[in-house]
Amino acid sequence: MNPNDPSLRSWLPVPEGSDFPIQNIPFGLGEHPDQYPAAFTRIGDHAINLFELFSAGLFKGVTKEEHVFEGIDCLNHFVCEGPAVVRGVRQRLSELLRHDNPLLRDNEALKAQAVFPIGQVHMNVPMNIGDYTDFYSSRQHAYNVGSMFRDPANALLPNWLHMPVGYHGRASSIVPSGTAIRRPSGQFKPAPDTAPLFGPTRQLDFELEVAFFTYHGKQLGQRISTAEADEYIFGLSLFNDWSARDIQAWEYVPLGPFLGKNFASSISPWVVTLDALEPFRVPGPVQDPAVLPYLQYTGYQHYDIKLEVAIRTTGGSETVICRSNFRHQYWNMAQQLAHHTVNGCNINAGDLMASGTISGEAPDSFGSMLELAWKGTKPLKLSDGSERKFIEDGDTVIMRGYAEKDDLRIGLGEVRGTVLPALPF
Ligand code: MN
Repeated sequence: MNPNDPSLRSWLPVPEGSDFPIQNIPFGLGEHPDQYPAAFTRIGDHAINLFELFSAGLFKGVTKEEHVFEGIDCLNHFVCEGPAVVRGVRQRLSELLRHDNPLLRDNEALKAQAVFPIGQVHMNVPMNIGDYTDFYSSRQHAYNVGSMFRDPANALLPNWLHMPVGYHGRASSIVPSGTAIRRPSGQFKPAPDTAPLFGPTRQLDFELEVAFFTYHGKQLGQRISTAEADEYIFGLSLFNDWSARDIQAWEYVPLGPFLGKNFASSISPWVVTLDALEPFRVPGPVQDPAVLPYLQYTGYQHYDIKLEVAIRTTGGSETVICRSNFRHQYWNMAQQLAHHTVNGCNINAGDLMASGTISGEAPDSFGSMLELAWKGTKPLKLSDGSERKFIEDGDTVIMRGYAEKDDLRIGLGEVRGTVLPALPF
């Protein structure tokens, strides 16, 4: 049966509003205190160790390789097997977890080794990320930033409507959801006529992004077309690309983002496959002017995934400050991948490509504090009565994302991080 069939049910409970019904079957890198790191999937609020299922012979005929399910690089090995094996494993899991299959359901000894309440499993960054690229693909975000820092009449730079602009980011500082984020220090210039200062950033921000992991690409020198792109995308996670706006503004000319960006990015633990998101494809915006032939695409390459950002203050109150959608991208993932490889740049299994801040047209759909509070000129009111222009020490930023249609909800889960005070000097 098609693993996306909405009539499928699991023998594991799926709470109302869960992001992880049996139609999702995401992949993550988890660690139970009594076990080695392993590949996991999730149903409702349970995590399932795939190495234990493999050892019990439940993936016979799908893969023979045990290292694709155990070890800190296991998901890289898994993804190296390619989309056919990943699809086969998702299909087999769908069969093993459905309500009328007794194979695992009635095997209490195996369940004790393989099925855990989610709180017992520590989730890591899903893959060993070799290279990380960040795009700038939301038109409204590019327009907002261009308006604030340059001129509303010329907010988009001349290249923006002709290519998915991006830069190479830093993979080493991508951290799993829940990791505390230290406020970075650096150089900034508070006003045009003052000398640069050094100190903790005064403009710490988040960026609401969705990132995709890749399969192995082609050899160096080859390119991936928009038509081929889907077969090179493993799946999606939520991504908070933390940013220090004052450091960024002072350093970014002429070579682009550096220390204002590379101190941390937080990623959600579960990689949701493109297959699971198939029912949520939607058309993208009309691209005018017409794009060059290598960026043209057919079919629906955007996804209707609702996104939100909340701030939880030290007092414990939570305020949703942004409601956006992954479909608010001008440049889709197929175009990003085609552009990234059009010069022959190769990609590897476990590379990460992030969307850039996803802002919609409505002011409450802007995907960063910079835009929501408009460079500090329109402070946001939180539910505890306090105000924010940027993120303060002790604040927890939480991002969530899910797609929903005809009673089927497929979610990306959440990514969160709490800000710690800067280190003293
Ligand atoms: Mn970014």
